[in-house]
Amino acid sequence: MRFASNWDKWTIEKQRSYQLSMLKKFLVNQVIRFSPHYSRLHKEGKFQVEKLKTLDDLKHLPFTTKLDMIPTEENPAKSREFILQPNPDTVSSQLTTKRKSELIAGKLIRGKSPKSQILDEYLPVFFTATTGRSAGQVPFVYSSHDVLRLKEAGKRLYDVAGMVKGKDFLLNLFPYAPHLAFWVVYAGSESSGVPGFHSGGGKTLGTHRILDLISTLKPTNITGVPGYVYHILRIASEKGMDLSSIRSIALGAERTTQGHRDKFRRFLQSGGADNVAILSTYGFTEAKMAFIECPEGEQMGYHLFPDMGIFEIVDTESGEPVGEGQPGEIVYTSIDSRGSVVIRFRTGDYTKGGILYKPCPACGRTVPRLTSNLTRLTNKKELNLAKVKGTLVNMNDVDEIIHAFNEIVEWQVEIGKVNNDPLETDSVTFYISLKKDSDQDRLTREIVHEFTKRFEFAPNRIVIESTDDVLKRLGMETELKEKRIIDIRNQCG
Ligand SMILES: [Zn+2]
Repeated sequence: MRFASNWDKWTIEKQRSYQLSMLKKFLVNQVIRFSPHYSRLHKEGKFQVEKLKTLDDLKHLPFTTKLDMIPTEENPAKSREFILQPNPDTVSSQLTTKRKSELIAGKLIRGKSPKSQILDEYLPVFFTATTGRSAGQVPFVYSSHDVLRLKEAGKRLYDVAGMVKGKDFLLNLFPYAPHLAFWVVYAGSESSGVPGFHSGGGKTLGTHRILDLISTLKPTNITGVPGYVYHILRIASEKGMDLSSIRSIALGAERTTQGHRDKFRRFLQSGGADNVAILSTYGFTEAKMAFIECPEGEQMGYHLFPDMGIFEIVDTESGEPVGEGQPGEIVYTSIDSRGSVVIRFRTGDYTKGGILYKPCPACGRTVPRLTSNLTRLTNKKELNLAKVKGTLVNMNDVDEIIHAFNEIVEWQVEIGKVNNDPLETDSVTFYISLKKDSDQDRLTREIVHEFTKRFEFAPNRIVIESTDDVLKRLGMETELKEKRIIDIRNQCG
């Protein structure tokens, strides 16, 4: 498989014509033939690939949602219906003439039998899983073909982030888990030639060993979940460690707030690292890849790979595609993967600034850019946080409020019920730790004030604890992702 080396310089016309031709071929030759889910829809007349004359016709195909894939009692292996699975007995009659001649060429040149070549293309060799709590885990399958795509996407992440072979060294703090973030960073390190220490994060190595690694390896880039990178940089800064080797921080798996960015800058400056680029990334299991901002400007948007997939933004209510720069839900369509494949997948992620098609004013790449300010609509549902005391609370806002207080070191929010009584009203408790010599009474008053101003209700309790105690609540060294906000309303009584 070959990838375009000038993928980031194509004109928008070239991007669109390439996407249309790839999409048509992919749907006709792969998806409606080998995906049990889409081939069934096609037979029922609900997936009319024949209507696809221009890219805008994509809107005639139905959406795919997380609900279509999560296991049910009648069908516990529902996600398998999204895996491309040619029948070994009949596959040869379903291949295109071009593919057949490629297989013959493969046999002549590399001595590989057509059957073994087909196995390489379709056989599952690698899995990641979604992290959904209430919805159950959905495994996502990669064939060797997809692993090559993962490596290419990873290489492009390093490229957009400005990391260079022979110059940079990356410290990967994402947890070892079957989650995309860790593996795309690992794959990209291998394919770009930028060395990486893939530590597994606090749960695997522990904070002290990670701090030692920073001292000895002198990484130029640190990548991980914002909450954990915060934890590491805060301690490094308190210990007066030399951080001057660091040129960029890449954050993923959770939203990066302005508060994070400001605090990271302060910690880094105290360790002698000026002008550090703080980049956020966007990825999701179903895309089998991730995207990053470029370091040349501030929040220039996630640089997409137009030859590897199609992004649309749709109105959350009507489902109609919206124009450039308009807000809406992010919808993703794969155009050349194998293994698990989704078409018009509704991510549940909402973008305020939509997609921009103008070349990036900072780095000049011509790729579409997904504006950086995203909200994950589904998380609120999963965590059951939509309503607290009858008010819709966006937990990203809580994060912003807390980070605005320089004196707060660590924090956790617990949503429960008053007196632990399931019939009572909701209660909100803040567990916070403060810097030495902070004025506790003034801070408590100010937090209540800021919180009430934003949410129209006050937290019920603010409990001040030692940083170690709050870190234990968060599971900073024991959990894959720290438990920043916990909802125990279902466990009361
Ligand atoms: Zn750029």
